[in-house]
Amino acid sequence: MSTAPTSETAAHLHDAPAPHEHAWSTRSRHSTSDGLLLYVRCTGCDAHRVDLIIPGAVAPSALSRAFGGD
Ligand SMILES: [Zn+2]
Repeated sequence: MSTAPTSETAAHLHDAPAPHEHAWSTRSRHSTSDGLLLYVRCTGCDAHRVDLIIPGAVAPSALSRAFGGD
């Protein structure tokens, strides 16, 4: 009979949320002279981020990297 540990055991070493693509949800927004500030939080974990939407820009730029969560 084999007593080798299963991968299931290793998967429970950490209590952190499993890696996932953050599902950002806007918590609040503020109009500033630079553009629209968006405070977003992941609905799947506690990660949060601040985005700045610059008028005329194609895509919002992340002011901060995601922090919290993973
Ligand atoms: Zn997340």
